[in-house]
Amino acid sequence: IWKELEDDYRKILTPPSFNAWIEQAKPISLINNLLTIEVPSNLHREYWEKNLAAKIVETGFRLTGEEVTPVFIIENEKKEPEKKSAPIQTELPDIVKRNSKKALLNSKYTFDTFVIGKGNQMAHAAALVVAEDPGATYNPLFFYGGVGLGKTHLMHAIGHQMLTNQPDAKIKYVTSETFANDYINSIQNRTSEAFRQEYRNVDLLLVDDIQFFADKEGTQEEFFHTFNTLYNEGHQIVLTSDRLPNEIPKLQERLVSRFAWGLSVDITPPDLETRIAILRKRANAEGLEIPDDTLSYIAGQIDSNIRELEGALVRVQAFATMNGNDISTSLAADALKSLKPAKLKSELSILLIQEEVCKYYHLQLKDLKGKKRVKSIVVPRQIAMFLSRELTDNSLPKIGAEFGGKDHTTVIHAHEKIQQLLDTDPIIQKEVGELKNILIS
Ligand code: ADP
Ligand code: MG
Repeated sequence: IWKELEDDYRKILTPPSFNAWIEQAKPISLINNLLTIEVPSNLHREYWEKNLAAKIVETGFRLTGEEVTPVFIIENEKKEPEKKSAPIQTELPDIVKRNSKKALLNSKYTFDTFVIGKGNQMAHAAALVVAEDPGATYNPLFFYGGVGLGKTHLMHAIGHQMLTNQPDAKIKYVTSETFANDYINSIQNRTSEAFRQEYRNVDLLLVDDIQFFADKEGTQEEFFHTFNTLYNEGHQIVLTSDRLPNEIPKLQERLVSRFAWGLSVDITPPDLETRIAILRKRANAEGLEIPDDTLSYIAGQIDSNIRELEGALVRVQAFATMNGNDISTSLAADALKSLKPAKLKSELSILLIQEEVCKYYHLQLKDLKGKKRVKSIVVPRQIAMFLSRELTDNSLPKIGAEFGGKDHTTVIHAHEKIQQLLDTDPIIQKEVGELKNILIS
């Protein structure tokens, strides 16, 4: 029955949708006409129930003559992801290419070239829902997460997919800085009307890295109106940032609350399997012959940022060309030797930072993580939080949790406080500097 269902779905879904919903789902059992299907997240389950389940009943009845009821369970978080063969690369049609260019979309950033894995499968699924049915579900769609994890890639993929379905759709991709510059220029040149035409007459507006809206009052004001116009007309808005809206300093409350109207999804660093899959896909696309153990080796060396991962592959490739050798694990090791420091960020743990800070100030770990408000503990505690934020990829809530279950706003406060002291207090400057040296050497 699953096989048959797959074939049915393949006919009615676009290829990226098929990859997102059907390939990510796994039939578990068919007992007493209950078909149990495992899906990766709640979002997947909702989508299945709303859009895909009817087909199961239909096909089930056709094949068994009985009423088959689908039941969805959510995949256990800890389970290893399935190894997946890369889907076939399909070329974008010409008209899509032309319109993509107009919208300033990078032709490499499509759903086809995006590897789905733990850490991004929810974001990928949400992106797809929005691409297939813009304005109708998650508006705005908000991606947040660290650098180089695929936020921009997914954003462009939404644009391409929407153009594939609707070649004359009007799409605009900008970074928040471009938006801000366009706005400022429009005031200087008295072209506000043209600016509004440009930004408010689109079916899909993609604004990347909106953390740079911080501190830009006028731009935020203008974006507020742009947002309202698009939203009220049912046009889709997609935003990205390196953190949640309420963690962006000086972002107007009314923007924060509007961004929460839709769906916010975080993207977290890929696990080893996913990193290998990304490298393999990239190597295939470039026609490189790389043994599996070498791919694993490279993927093991760089474990947080996909841009760095790709950089490592380029480096290995260049190294092989220069030396006239085939790519092997030992060659990769040589090529990546000097890259080592890039690893640091993900090697440092919050605990290690806490331990070093305790040693440095002669404190007990339990005091550092505790609630005592004496200055001799508060400042080291804030320094430890500051360093955890600066030197690791952990999220604010995670850092708070590691400090005896404190709120993420406490971490933000500590970070700001130390940042301030670093500008004004030479002793703090020296101490934080020394701690940093201890931690990263
Ligand atoms: P961000 O905007 O989050 O900083 P990008 O979208 O610019 O990150 O991604 C960085 C690089 O990594 C890009 O070249 C992108 O194509 C690649 N990349 C990120 N995630 C994936 C993925 N899941 N599959 C394939 N390539 C990816
Ligand atoms: Mg980006």
